[in-house]
Amino acid sequence: MTNIQLSTENLSFTYPDGTQALKNINIEIEKGEKVAIIGPNGAGKSTLFSHFNGLTEPTSGCVKIEGKAISFEKDELLKVRQKVGIVFQDPNDQLFAPTVKEDIAFGPMNLGLSYDEVEKRVEDALKMVGMENYENKTPHHLSGGQQKRIAIAGIIAMKPEIMILDEPTAGLDPQGALKIMNLLSELNKEGITIVISTHDVDLISQYVNKIFVMADGEIIGDGTPNEIFSNEDLIKKANLKLPIISELFKVLN
Ligand code: ADP
Repeated sequence: MTNIQLSTENLSFTYPDGTQALKNINIEIEKGEKVAIIGPNGAGKSTLFSHFNGLTEPTSGCVKIEGKAISFEKDELLKVRQKVGIVFQDPNDQLFAPTVKEDIAFGPMNLGLSYDEVEKRVEDALKMVGMENYENKTPHHLSGGQQKRIAIAGIIAMKPEIMILDEPTAGLDPQGALKIMNLLSELNKEGITIVISTHDVDLISQYVNKIFVMADGEIIGDGTPNEIFSNEDLIKKANLKLPIISELFKVLN
């Protein structure tokens, strides 16, 4: 039996200036999966993500959480946003409080939790991302990788069922990128469904179980990393490069 947690049905979106950013997207993501959406800049990944928690309303079609179309009623949207946490590409879009602690506490406080519960969630989230000694620091004084981890902690503290991360490794050095991917694997082991967008093909092939390939507002392929990266036509069509490891196999064969 399948356990579809997040899906879209004929989802299309056109920006007010007439740009058709999403064209009839149909995807299904099961509970507990680790999924990557890959594609070149401008493919529509960020636009798609902004639909996953109701930040953007589709022009047509819908996003479903556990089979139920997202409703744009205020109370319903709040519930959706607690279930589906989004980490934006640029931590500066997310971090705003004077201290790390206040930043992470903001979301849980808005859920109306007790002071003690908020404290505990902040502590646990900081521990999870390996930044427990940074509570009183100013987010803007941290490195890019640390800011990313704080932004992730802010979402962890909301206890979401699904975490959506837009280019979580963008701008990080290889070691920082690996740390983030390992953290996402840890969160996935705790039962959180992970959906990331990336064009870093080298990093994802070992980390995800399913890939959707996007180009020009459409899903042009989906499958396991092996299936996707052995389809050279697809990779070319999406203007991506093959992971180094696949290139190596090609040379050796
Ligand atoms: P990606 O995240 O894959 O780089 P985006 O979702 O940002 O792609 O963009 C998809 C398409 O929508 C692109 O053609 C982009 O130029 C366009 N786009 C993005 N934001 C806007 C906007 N606010 N207004 C008009 N067009 C936009």
